[in-house]
Amino acid sequence: TVKAEQQDTIRVFNPEMQAVVDIRAELETGLRAALEHAELALFLQPQFDREGGLIGAEALLRWFRCGTDMVSPADFIPLAEDTGLIVPIGQWVIGEACALLRSWGKQARTRHLRLAINVSARQFHQPDFVSRLAEEIAASAIDPSRLKLELTETVILADLDYTLQRMNEIRSLGVCLALDDFGIGYSSLSYLKHLPFDQLKIDQSFVRDMLGDRRSGAIVSAILALGRALGMEVIAEGVETHEHHAFLQDNDCGFYQGYLFGQPLPIDEWTQRWTDPVTTDDA
Ligand code: C2E
Ligand code: MG
Ligand code: MG
Ligand code: MG
Repeated sequence: TVKAEQQDTIRVFNPEMQAVVDIRAELETGLRAALEHAELALFLQPQFDREGGLIGAEALLRWFRCGTDMVSPADFIPLAEDTGLIVPIGQWVIGEACALLRSWGKQARTRHLRLAINVSARQFHQPDFVSRLAEEIAASAIDPSRLKLELTETVILADLDYTLQRMNEIRSLGVCLALDDFGIGYSSLSYLKHLPFDQLKIDQSFVRDMLGDRRSGAIVSAILALGRALGMEVIAEGVETHEHHAFLQDNDCGFYQGYLFGQPLPIDEWTQRWTDPVTTDDA
């Protein structure tokens, strides 16, 4: 009966659950203020080609709550998505990315670099997403081919035709598209059949397991072969060891990202570490 269900509901809503709700509410209030108080920052993690040449970076969002303790994106991105805060936050990320590309474009030693940013489903599906992206690109006068949007399968789940149309609009701006976390979703192959991605990112769970687990290794080499056959770039993320690197090189992987090469760093530190002529001369 309804009465009994209500009682059940009341009974399962215990103090621990209340504590979870409170923490979440507190986090949400904090996140709302984070943009105004400039508590968000982009960190950069370098990406390399097979010869070890720096090709650019992925921008990863960091939240310094109350200016100090760092909240992981794993903890606040889902909340930002649920509350819709990801829309203004994502717009801020695009603005920062364009500003960075603009400054890279001014110097010979950084002009060739590409910058990847992560885009959430909710953000991607905003009616004015493409027009606002176009405005940012125009306002910063950057070369749009230096900007890459990393999408996950959740972006596509809604509606394939609509997603295809939107992806085409983005590509017609000259911006590149990557399929992030490739391999852990449900029907990725049909996405590859229909959707114009420039790059596949092999999910780090396969890279992590590929040496110990024959199946993961087989999946990684199959994804690399698939990317070659489709004429797409493939990048491995989560490359942590020389053994990972060697296995990927043996399987002809074109692009690399992971702690073995570099951790995500604040923009200034990243720029100094990876593009400063004094510190990169000996490389
Ligand atoms: P992702 O886009 O798949 O990013 C890769 C994650 O792997 C990053 O975690 C990165 O720091 C981490 N990583 C890099 N190299 C290694 C490695 O060698 N080993 C291991 N174990 N991990 C490595 P992070 O920075 O915590 O970001 C987590 C996720 O949060 C991202 O996954 C992305 O989905 C989301 N995210 C980050 N920034 C943004 C953003 O600006 N917008 C949106 N919508 N999502 C973002
Ligand atoms: Mg990513
Ligand atoms: Mg990923
Ligand atoms: Mg991920």
